[in-house]
Amino acid sequence: EVKFVDHPRPPARLGQVGLRVKSVIAVGSGKGGVGKSTVAASIALTLRQLGSKVGLMDADVYGPSIPHLLGLSGRPSVSAEKKIEPIMLTEPSSLPPMPVMSMGFLVEPDQAVIWRGPMLHGSINQFLGETNWGELDYLVIDLPPGTGDVVLTLSQALPLAGSVVVCTPQEVALLDAIKAISMFRKVNIPILGMVENMSGFQCPGCHKTYDIFGRGGAREKAEELKVPFLGDLPINIDLRTAGDEGQLAQMIAENATAQAPLESVAKAL
Ligand code: ADP
Repeated sequence: EVKFVDHPRPPARLGQVGLRVKSVIAVGSGKGGVGKSTVAASIALTLRQLGSKVGLMDADVYGPSIPHLLGLSGRPSVSAEKKIEPIMLTEPSSLPPMPVMSMGFLVEPDQAVIWRGPMLHGSINQFLGETNWGELDYLVIDLPPGTGDVVLTLSQALPLAGSVVVCTPQEVALLDAIKAISMFRKVNIPILGMVENMSGFQCPGCHKTYDIFGRGGAREKAEELKVPFLGDLPINIDLRTAGDEGQLAQMIAENATAQAPLESVAKAL
């Protein structure tokens, strides 16, 4: 069983903790519900499909949704070398298995977890340093929404390649995204760019596009804030249903409409 240490651990450094990863990318958002977890998982799956070795770490400790999106369950075991064995995503079977680690694998789904700062710090460091990730090109991290402790811990633990900020085109969501960007800047995490999610909806019947939450707001803000704009992802019903059914990996592997915008975001990273 995985046990968390209830005290702050000394900041771990990438090589020191044995993490063999070329690039660590944290996906954040200013607030919940903008599709951060869906986008983080989809980016990881897309990078894997493009031929990279990818791991996915769910650091959204307050509401871990990655296991559900990918249809994964089970309890990570601890090896003789005291490494936490991640849960492997084996779908689709044509692609190499992808290691996934989430607090969702360690707590009962209906249990509320109350995290105190030091405990949170310890668990994030253990996820990073004591999980048997293997050798990776990318470790994609799904951050909790908003600003806070987890980002601070990550910034101290290892050099991140950068952060991706997910937002919807609406002004309110954008204001929160700006806060997230300013937080990443404060802790010196480079900003890889902004992704506009739920950007327009094309009606499958009449092919007319409806800008349900608006459109283009994130691109404009990115320009204003001088951060790269990585692309927009339209509202896609298949993405929503696949996520709800734990079939995100299979859907993204098969669905060209979902793939196209994701590939352009992944390539912009
Ligand atoms: P967050 O992590 O920001 O709280 P989620 O990834 O859990 O957000 O997404 C919230 C809801 O929106 C989920 O039901 C998800 O399936 C849906 N969703 C996210 N992005 C899209 C999209 N581009 N098109 C359709 N539904 C989406």
